[in-house]
Amino acid sequence: VLPDFNAQTMDLSVQPGNNFYQYANGGWMKNNPLPDDAGRYGTFDKLREDNQKKVKNLLLEASTSQQENGSSMQQIGAFYATGMDTLQIEQQGLQPLQEELQNIKDVKNSADLQKLIAHFHNKGIATLFHFYGSPDKKNSEWMIAQLAQGGLGLTDRDYYLAKDSRSQKIKSEYLIHLKKMFALMGYSEEEAQTKAEVVMKVETRLAQASMTRLQRRDPHKTYNKKNLEELQKLTPQLDWNLYLKEIHLDYRGDFNVAQPEFFGEVNQMLKEVPLSEWKDYLQWKLIRSAAPYLPKAFVDQSFAFYGKILSGNPKIKPRWKRVLEASNSALGEAIGKEFVQRHFPPEAKTRMVTLVHNLRLAMKDRIQNLAWMSETTKEKALEKLQAINVKIGYPEKFRDYSSLEIDRKSYLENVWNAKQFNIAYKRAKIGKKVDKSEWFMTPQTVNAYYSPQNNEIVFPAAILQPPFFYLDADDAVNYGAIGVVIGHEMTHGFDDKGRLYDKNGNLNTWWTKEDGEQFNERTQVLVDQYNSFIVLDTVHANGKLSLGENIADLGGLNISYTAFQKANSQNPGTETIDGFTPDQRFFLAYARIWAQNIRDAEILRRTKEDVHSLGKYRVNGPLVHMPEFYKAFGIQEQAPMFKPQKDRAIIW
Ligand SMILES: [Zn+2]
Repeated sequence: VLPDFNAQTMDLSVQPGNNFYQYANGGWMKNNPLPDDAGRYGTFDKLREDNQKKVKNLLLEASTSQQENGSSMQQIGAFYATGMDTLQIEQQGLQPLQEELQNIKDVKNSADLQKLIAHFHNKGIATLFHFYGSPDKKNSEWMIAQLAQGGLGLTDRDYYLAKDSRSQKIKSEYLIHLKKMFALMGYSEEEAQTKAEVVMKVETRLAQASMTRLQRRDPHKTYNKKNLEELQKLTPQLDWNLYLKEIHLDYRGDFNVAQPEFFGEVNQMLKEVPLSEWKDYLQWKLIRSAAPYLPKAFVDQSFAFYGKILSGNPKIKPRWKRVLEASNSALGEAIGKEFVQRHFPPEAKTRMVTLVHNLRLAMKDRIQNLAWMSETTKEKALEKLQAINVKIGYPEKFRDYSSLEIDRKSYLENVWNAKQFNIAYKRAKIGKKVDKSEWFMTPQTVNAYYSPQNNEIVFPAAILQPPFFYLDADDAVNYGAIGVVIGHEMTHGFDDKGRLYDKNGNLNTWWTKEDGEQFNERTQVLVDQYNSFIVLDTVHANGKLSLGENIADLGGLNISYTAFQKANSQNPGTETIDGFTPDQRFFLAYARIWAQNIRDAEILRRTKEDVHSLGKYRVNGPLVHMPEFYKAFGIQEQAPMFKPQKDRAIIW
């Protein structure tokens, strides 16, 4: 497979300096219309889909051939088979839910209620708040308990509160959805209506006490460490000893309360909201969480709201894709182990190691040459860069799933068993030293990440494929695509949030005051630039929410371009391929990874909920700050994309 930059995949009727995204991707967008089951479809999503087909073959193999009892392949096969067995699912109806529904009915007092919330948390049924373990932000070697806001059925707290027409529409459609779901459970019209209103009331109160997405991006605001006694004082109505007992966790260490005000409100609500209303709320949490694994009527109604209304998708994804996703979250590393054996060539890892090494050297160069940063801060930045840990392909040691029970009796039961197993596995880490070998994405995931607390960049096997990574393509293309992704993840250690952590992953200021001010001034250029983008009608992009990603895109491009120049000076590739120079191919390869078609509803949803900018702006946004881009395509001052030097952002 080789990259294809030609009249079929590009739009040569557009000047590169007018709209580079359209110029580079116009043909691709025309040839790859939106499928009915997607809110967005781009080269990224296409790779995801190709990848899903590989995983599907694995699941089919596991489910249709004889597997050793208790082996991973038996578990994978049985899980997939129960998910695909719609006949059995229809026959069982709401039977698999009965026990939990009875548990809700049996709640007689606040202690019962709290016990049941803990029990729901054990099964991964999102209710009221989140409890989980993660490293202490100021002592990154240790796992502590984390408490965070939660309990909403809508995907952003603003939908309950904001007065804009989209939020209001989503809110009223949500109320209809709630009512329909209660009706499906067998309640009369009237009962369903009352219950829906109760849920809306409870969730709106939680929403009012919740932080916005922007507030949650501030790691200082969400760092409020308390011991058990202090936590108990914050929420006297919530018996934390009881909670810990119910989740089977013997823990007396610290708790980070990400949103103390939210928990203050939960405490107040436990005093004020009548038990009958809590029961309606719990029923909704149960049915919402179980719906994808229940009969078709529940699946369809769930999709009608979360798929159609929120993302604008006309059609639900085929069943195999949905069951595959559930399989991945249930048995991720078991599937991943089989996946890399079949689909990950060792050469890919070797090539990546070299690329990452060159990217690190390039970033080192760039930091040393930064005109705006003092030597003191530079020294610390270089130490942090040097300390970044790199993971490529798959974990050194895969998880052991042998004690997880998966059979062919019930899909929902399998899902719950797996959730319980995975949650218990993660909880057992609380109060212990951080396991730095752990991965937060499975090898079959088409994505990559930076973890500020581990100060590491991670590239799962599945992203190391075209159009990100080509084993046989010219350097220009690999630096333009996967190289920029590597640089992007590295830059996350130095974006508006990542820069607040030191080389050991602790929230700790290593910047001089002046350098911090310089950084803010420089990144404000990006905030203003993205705020000025009109994504649809009168709706603007959110420059503050997407700032970290935009800094990383610009940094990634600059760093990878520098690395590419270095590689090229040792081994000059000057010949044009398909009529494009190496520099041009670098930028075209970058643009291609963000080629996408997207629905209006999905544009609006992502602009509200997603920290990443839309494809068009991930391309045109950062490129205008790069003189190398103008030079590569001979773009002159008169061109619409041209930005005078004084308006360009120079950050990393
Ligand atoms: Zn990112």
